[in-house]
Amino acid sequence: MQTVSKPITPAVLENIRKDFPILSRKIHAGKNGSGGKDLVYLDNGATSQKPQVVIDVLEHYYKFQNSNIHRGIHALSQEITTEYELARKTVQKHLNAAHDYEIIFTKGTTDSICLVANSFGKKYIKQGDEILVTGMEHHSNILPWQLFCEEHGAVLKVVPVNNQGELDLEACDRLLNKQTKIFALTHVSNTLGTINPVKEIIRMAHAKDIPVLLDGAQAVPHGKVDVQDLDADFYCFSAHKTFGPTGVGILYGKEKWLSVMPPYQVGGGTIKTVSFQKTIYADLPLRFEAGTPHIEGGLGMAAALDYINKIGLDQIAAYEHDLLEYATDKLSVIPGLRIIGTAKEKAAVLSFVVDGTHPMDIGTLLDQQGIAVRTGHHCTQPLMAQFGIPGTVRASFAFYNTMEEVDKLEAAMHKAVKMLL
Ligand code: PMP
Repeated sequence: MQTVSKPITPAVLENIRKDFPILSRKIHAGKNGSGGKDLVYLDNGATSQKPQVVIDVLEHYYKFQNSNIHRGIHALSQEITTEYELARKTVQKHLNAAHDYEIIFTKGTTDSICLVANSFGKKYIKQGDEILVTGMEHHSNILPWQLFCEEHGAVLKVVPVNNQGELDLEACDRLLNKQTKIFALTHVSNTLGTINPVKEIIRMAHAKDIPVLLDGAQAVPHGKVDVQDLDADFYCFSAHKTFGPTGVGILYGKEKWLSVMPPYQVGGGTIKTVSFQKTIYADLPLRFEAGTPHIEGGLGMAAALDYINKIGLDQIAAYEHDLLEYATDKLSVIPGLRIIGTAKEKAAVLSFVVDGTHPMDIGTLLDQQGIAVRTGHHCTQPLMAQFGIPGTVRASFAFYNTMEEVDKLEAAMHKAVKMLL
């Protein structure tokens, strides 16, 4: 396994890639395994691949540790409870949260946002109040708020996005007003790649005493996030996009909010005492963790975070920046290709359309050449409507992608466009 934090040179990359078994897979191979194309995995925005260290943790759990946490007096249960709580501390350290009890295990980003919408919402947002989101949100950061507004008579407001895919900060300042009870926005856009100036935005909101939730699903896999430095009130991400298992994620919340928010989902694990007359709920973080959690998922997430920290978050960000610049240059020469999302600050996401072609057709032709990209609206239909397109082709990169893979994408694109036009 890669252990030294140094620039991601081709030699370092070769070793990193060996940590991910799936990267040596062939796609569209014959039944006997012959032929096929090398997998070029450029759908990291949807989910990332898993290093062997994460796979090992899952296997080890089921082979040697399987038991429930927070319940048993026996050795297995005690051992796994300790490890699960250590995993929480790993996440705390990773996000630089002040306390481990500010880290809530959830099912993922969507679940984390639903928790805040329903718990914070019920306590603090009343009829006529406003909830602010932006025009570049994933549906997961629109629908929980929209549903809340429908049920409670609150009003959803939207910060506009310009043609480069950047937020209109003047409008943002205007829209943050006395009625605004929370501002929920994405740190990095999954469709455009835009890195929003979230520290500045949080300062703007806090000047008016408005708390901010950041959807970090596309930020945590690609660099350092420090929730105290950002002064974020809530921060959400998913393990599966961060080289960890599916079905588990994180809600970070400042103690000052979490400690006064009502329980969202309740049940086993969330209580101190229960009687038919009255239930006393547990302290943080357990009051928000109903039922048996994704135990091995929590352990796997911690292993994934340890893994990327060993590679180095700054190295990852720097290398992905180079990948993005290289890929942008390469794809820009394809006839008729238009990049959707040209913000100054961008993560390694390239969304594009090609005049006279449908994204699905391009995606299918790329797949035939072993290249996995995402096509469609990327759960950002309002954004698609703004750009007047049904969808895009999206190549989203991770630190294990190579410049040679970008070359393959470019060659495959030339071929695809020639076939379609
Ligand atoms: N927000 C953003 C920006 C995303 O990219 C995604 C996943 N595409 C989500 C939220 C939802 O994440 P999950 O499905 O893991 O809950």
